[in-house]
Amino acid sequence: MVDFNLLAVKGVQGLQPYQPGKPIDELERELGVTNTLKLASNENPLGPSERVKEALQNVSSQLGLYPDGGGFALKKKLANLLTSDSVTITTEQVTLGNGSNDILDMIARAFLCEGREAIYSEYAFAVYPISVQAVGATAKVSQALAVNHNTNPYGHDLSAMRNCITDKTSVIFIANPNNPTGTWLDADALNVFLKNIPTDIIVVVDEAYFEYVTEDDYPDTVQWLDQFPNLIVTRTFSKIYALAGLRVGYAVCSKEIADLLNRVRQPFNVNTPALLAATVALDDKKHLEKCVEINQQGLVFWQQACQQRGWDYIPSVGNFITIDFAQDAMPIYNALLHEAVIVRPIANYGLPNHLRITISTQTENQICLDAFDKVLEK
Ligand SMILES: *Cc1c(COP(=O)(O)O)cnc(C)c1O
Repeated sequence: MVDFNLLAVKGVQGLQPYQPGKPIDELERELGVTNTLKLASNENPLGPSERVKEALQNVSSQLGLYPDGGGFALKKKLANLLTSDSVTITTEQVTLGNGSNDILDMIARAFLCEGREAIYSEYAFAVYPISVQAVGATAKVSQALAVNHNTNPYGHDLSAMRNCITDKTSVIFIANPNNPTGTWLDADALNVFLKNIPTDIIVVVDEAYFEYVTEDDYPDTVQWLDQFPNLIVTRTFSKIYALAGLRVGYAVCSKEIADLLNRVRQPFNVNTPALLAATVALDDKKHLEKCVEINQQGLVFWQQACQQRGWDYIPSVGNFITIDFAQDAMPIYNALLHEAVIVRPIANYGLPNHLRITISTQTENQICLDAFDKVLEK
């Protein structure tokens, strides 16, 4: 019998597939529960803008044709929106992805291979190790800040990250804010870090939750692209724009780097409904504001709930909160499933006592908290 694992390229042999949040249908099939509340994948509880839903009603007539492989309309709108007094962004600097995961993969394929190294922090987003290892590159995982750090527990330690640099380093991945910790880096810290990185190392700042963050000193790194030609900023329509099911994200970087990403990009990687929805979603600022507001209320709700119950939580600026239950969290997770509530275990990140909960509406937050109270009382 052939050992097919040995036929795979070396990086793939050692890979574990990404573990997504449990789908609602799967839980309902397995346990026979109904009205499931899924707060496991940082999806937006409000769903997409009404304008997007309307626009999508007429898209079926276009499905026989290939999408616009250049994504012209969406890139143009993004370039306009991202241009400011401090930076001019052109369409050539925008690369579209089938979700920002697709962009992360393009970066790995363009800049990493066997013999090269990528740096990311402990507890960083789980897609980085997969993209890095799949192309045979070596991951250097820097230690995160201490659990009891006064401002940024579990956060990226930028000096530890810098200390991981060798002459083989090609890419550094930084999630700001990071998932699953919700931790973030302020403008000064990140700017100083970037200034000290040799320009022949690509620095990826993954801003999947950018639009949710309200902190004054949280950086808009797209504004720094003229200053740092080695910077790639990635963002997505999966989170606040609530288009996770359509798969669309983007990178903004120098046009030279964008040209390299486009060489490994699949020709029609973003589909027609996704292009249309993302373009229309950018028009609805009111919807965005409402999503931010409800998320802020939800963050306060969960922080207070944790404080009242003596649960340690990681201070988050995203649309999720990660709580330390000071015991194996798997039984709690499983008990919640029987209450038709899905949250996210993160033992695969080295955090077996924590669960990550997506912030939702007041009603759903309360249902989830009640379920926690019920299963923890037993
Ligand atoms: C959710 C998330 C993404 C976005 O994934 P998509 O492929 O755009 O859906 C990227 N980075 C981080 C840190 C995330 O949490």
